[in-house]
Amino acid sequence: MSELTGLPSLSRRSFLQVSSAALACHFLTEAVMAQDATLHITYPDGAVRINANENPLGPCAAAREAVTAAAALGGRYHFNLTDELINTFVQQQGLKRENVMAYAGSTPGLYYTVAAFTSPKASFVTAEPGYEAGVGAAKAVGARVVNVALTKTWAHDVKAMLTAAPDAGVFYVCTPNNPTGTLTSHEDVEYLVEHKPKGSVVLIDEAYIHFSDASSCIDLVKSDKDVVVLRTFSKLYGMAGLRCGFAIARPDLLKKLVAYGGSNPMPVTACAAATVSLKEPDLVAERKAANTKVREATFSWLDKNGYTYSPSVCNCFMLKAGKPAKEVIAAMAKQNVFIGRPWPSMPDWVRITVGTQDEMEHFQTAFQKFMKGTAAGHVYDPTLERDLDGVIVTA
Ligand code: PLP
Repeated sequence: MSELTGLPSLSRRSFLQVSSAALACHFLTEAVMAQDATLHITYPDGAVRINANENPLGPCAAAREAVTAAAALGGRYHFNLTDELINTFVQQQGLKRENVMAYAGSTPGLYYTVAAFTSPKASFVTAEPGYEAGVGAAKAVGARVVNVALTKTWAHDVKAMLTAAPDAGVFYVCTPNNPTGTLTSHEDVEYLVEHKPKGSVVLIDEAYIHFSDASSCIDLVKSDKDVVVLRTFSKLYGMAGLRCGFAIARPDLLKKLVAYGGSNPMPVTACAAATVSLKEPDLVAERKAANTKVREATFSWLDKNGYTYSPSVCNCFMLKAGKPAKEVIAAMAKQNVFIGRPWPSMPDWVRITVGTQDEMEHFQTAFQKFMKGTAAGHVYDPTLERDLDGVIVTA
């Protein structure tokens, strides 16, 4: 057993076999993709930042206090804090300790799952539009990437995913989906799990689930299915910069992830903040309600003004501008409003993160000015552009 992870250790030989592939994994994160698309690494004063699906509220008060207290512990590893975090989560969820790995964000769990279960012979199957990070991992291990369009109701098309890739190693289902904010039903995920090729896994990314009423797929872990569920503290919990997330799966599946980097100790600040956040009794309900209120107010405004958008149930949605996305993004940035990127199948749509009510009002004013052609300096300036090809997924 590994002291660090509580999971069975890998032999030195098998570690060496996988480590070269692991080294090729340069993480493609939301932060990197958002920055590339909005052309800014530092933001001007007063910038409205609704481009990276972050939570403008940041960590809750208890989490901020826990971070301050944990700073004094920063000279040591304190594996007990990781244990406390995982134990808190497994007790709340009715899981076993060996079902959960903690990482600095959910990105490592996502990457390691894709790296472990795809290969040049086992493809990565995802949605278009869908969250792109897994594609980065699939490419790193030389796996074929299969992009399958969402259904007319904005869900993952699980039947088409199965048909498109009899050689699949990983089916990636993000629900609610980044960027559309729309759901794939539990029933559809179960169908995928029951009909997938032997040896493959279904990777269910629940980064945004707290904002919605969707039922979690953690029950599929409890019933020993071939699934890996991802959770993060970056979204509702407002801890994107503090970095904490989980991979939740059967121990034999998690063991394969450990080979790719499961033993890097967790930051003590992240553990402390995440643990107290989990214990805050009203946090999820309060933040979910706050997000819903701002999102619905934004949708009312969009409806009133005749705009088209994806029917999101979380903190991001796709908005149709009907003009090239790069032009919209650049014109909005000139008005100090930084919006999200487009997707290959939706080149005249942009992703919008739900911020505070005040931020969304700034967004509305800027967007209306742009669409009506009255924004100062709204004329498209191609010199502002950076090449998006490196971050946009192509089939
Ligand atoms: N999964 C999805 C769907 C995301 O949108 C993101 C970030 O935006 C992540 C995973 C990774 O987030 P983190 O590594 O901060 O947990």
